[in-house]
Amino acid sequence: MSKSKPFPAIHGGCFCGSTRYRLETAPLFNHACHCQDCNKHTGSVFACFTTIETEFITSFGKTPPKITTTVRPNGLVRHLATCGTCGTRLWASGDRSTVIADINTGTLDLPELMEPDVHEYIESKISWVLLPEGTKTCKGPFDYTKWWPKSSLKRLEAAIQRAQERKKLQVKVAQAESLDVEDEKEADKTPTAQTPDEKDEVAEDDEEFERRYLETEKALQERLEQLSLRLKVHEKVQGDDLRPGVVQAAKEPASESPSAEPKEVPAATVSEK
Ligand SMILES: [Zn+2]
Ligand SMILES: [Zn+2]
Repeated sequence: MSKSKPFPAIHGGCFCGSTRYRLETAPLFNHACHCQDCNKHTGSVFACFTTIETEFITSFGKTPPKITTTVRPNGLVRHLATCGTCGTRLWASGDRSTVIADINTGTLDLPELMEPDVHEYIESKISWVLLPEGTKTCKGPFDYTKWWPKSSLKRLEAAIQRAQERKKLQVKVAQAESLDVEDEKEADKTPTAQTPDEKDEVAEDDEEFERRYLETEKALQERLEQLSLRLKVHEKVQGDDLRPGVVQAAKEPASESPSAEPKEVPAATVSEK
């Protein structure tokens, strides 16, 4: 793996800091949604999501994410990962497939880097939410087969394939075990789609790992270039702010402004930071 630049780890976590996660590779896509469901779900006026293969989210920290599974009337299974302590919504999988997850972009440590590639349900956007000129939008849900870069579609295909192989393996193991112990608890073996820890069961070999990196490298580099450009702008602004005496003046108005987002009092959880 020495020949390809490793993707810098992207970290994120919940409000109280006890549930942390890391993205093992670059996201597949970023999108914003202005539908009313997302507004309700997130408690905001529009939602931003960073999509990645579920198996490439590694959780760490004091508390593992709490996974809540629901089965929708149409049979789709959805897994929602939240912090078991503070309740922050971290990611959900199953909207399209449990193989991929939509991370709540705001839970990333540097959400600044994940500008949405498209804003969907633009027809229900709240009028005082203003988008930068040139923002890509669409009415209703965006069609990922048209909007995702080819490299991401390839990655999705590969992820689906890996999931199918894991399922087959699980079925085989279950069959083998049922021969030994007929009344083995079947529930434990039911392949209920991905959960973040499922990847522990199948180790990816080096060759496959390398192949995956090479496949996505171009997309990663493009994204990285964008990110570093944005970071440079960011650093410059921050550098200016750090001049003695300027820091207070520059920062306070932004954080103190009585904007639409009332500050929640973190009560006991704040001491954990
Ligand atoms: Zn938390
Ligand atoms: Zn939505």
